[in-house]
Amino acid sequence: MIQAVLFAGCEPEVAAGVDGRILAVGEDARAAAGRGAQVVRLRGRALPGLIDAHIHLEGLADRHLDVDLTGTASLSEALERIRSWSSRLAEGRWVVGAGWYNDVWPDTSFPTRKQLDAAVGGRPAYLRRKDGHSAWVSSAALKLAGIDRSTEDPPGGKIDRDKRGEAVGILRETAMQVVSDLLPLPSEEELDGAMARALTDLAGLGLTAVHSMDSARALGSWQRLRARGRLPVRITYNIPLSDLSHAERMGVRSGWGDDWIRIWGVKAFLDGSLGSRTAEMLDGSGTPRLTQAELLDLVDRCARSGLNVCLHAIGDGAVRRALDALAPRREAWRYWRPRIEHAQCVNPKDMKRFARIGVIASMQPVHAVADRELANQYWPQLTAQSYAWGALARAGARLAFGSDAPVETADPLAGIEAATVWRRKVKWHPELAVPRAVARRAYTAGAAYAVGMEKDLGTLRPGKLCDLTVIDDGRVIATVVGGTVSFLRTPLVTSSRSSSKPR
Ligand SMILES: [Zn+2]
Repeated sequence: MIQAVLFAGCEPEVAAGVDGRILAVGEDARAAAGRGAQVVRLRGRALPGLIDAHIHLEGLADRHLDVDLTGTASLSEALERIRSWSSRLAEGRWVVGAGWYNDVWPDTSFPTRKQLDAAVGGRPAYLRRKDGHSAWVSSAALKLAGIDRSTEDPPGGKIDRDKRGEAVGILRETAMQVVSDLLPLPSEEELDGAMARALTDLAGLGLTAVHSMDSARALGSWQRLRARGRLPVRITYNIPLSDLSHAERMGVRSGWGDDWIRIWGVKAFLDGSLGSRTAEMLDGSGTPRLTQAELLDLVDRCARSGLNVCLHAIGDGAVRRALDALAPRREAWRYWRPRIEHAQCVNPKDMKRFARIGVIASMQPVHAVADRELANQYWPQLTAQSYAWGALARAGARLAFGSDAPVETADPLAGIEAATVWRRKVKWHPELAVPRAVARRAYTAGAAYAVGMEKDLGTLRPGKLCDLTVIDDGRVIATVVGGTVSFLRTPLVTSSRSSSKPR
């Protein structure tokens, strides 16, 4: 930015200075912008920029690199998409993709390698299911991985077999890795191109910032994109637990970086998922992925290093363990912002503990839309305390909302819808809905607080960074990050203030 900018015609109007921060909001905006300001004419309502508090950017980028099977309504439709994708690849190249979901096909049985072999023309193929907990692979892929009748299931995984013990082409949980380890990595150019497209898509959905759960490969990509001026959203990065030792050695602390790319927490898994039946429940079912001793050790290490924690906990058992581990460490961090990711099932006794301990509930309302039937089936006694943002909000918990894309859509307006009117519409525990203002806050001020950025983001106040999501008629019409337009739906007129007619 080389001059002040006035975002005009929206309610409220906003003036941004050359430093990308808000000069004034509302009545004072025009005067604050001054006569020489650039004017961006908008309409509708200007909200503080929407922030997605839980997203997987590599998964979104992969969609632009691989065959995307999201939304295929049948096996034959999926095979058709795979066939046309494969035909453009050189012989012997891997066919990689994701997004198929046999639960919604007319025939819900899992697909087989034999069906896949013809579609990929004998190429090795690896296609992740929508939930990421199993993969559909071709015969050539099994051969390259050395999987045959004599191969034993790895610990924590399963190779589906026929009566003769032959692999049928479905690998579950850790067994997926036997093949995924062989996949060729995209080049830096390929990854950056796909990442840029994924980030541009997010700007188009009205997102100005995200909290990412990704790997170091993605962190490298964002830095390269930024150097080329191609980063349209702010990214706060949460490192995987496997990288904690590196962060400790390097002395990286929460908040390291700047307001475009910064490091915040350590993401660790306490349990699995509802769909795969690995959520850790108080009734003893499910699959804990960290013992309590390991969890306490991890929390202590993070506290010593000045790193916050993002603890993935889906089942009520995992949520309770996370709270138990965090409660005695209330004073351990200077910027205490521990988060529980998902918190899909919370025992009523634990609801008030979020506020008491100061734990942020980082939730993805849109999950409830996709999971409702599964929850009714697997958690029939517990649905009144599941996806319970309303109950948590009433118990005083701080909420941060996100999408978990690409597992579900990244559209924040869909998330706000799911958190509010959707529950009434489908009559699924409407008492657990929150008012629209609360949902919006969880996507703005709540998400900003969840990564210690509340002084810079989350509300429209002079001095804060000028991030805006402008909504008109239920649609995003403009996205602004640091006073710069990152998305504009229609070619709205941009002019110099002095040449524009006074209203
Ligand atoms: Zn996730």
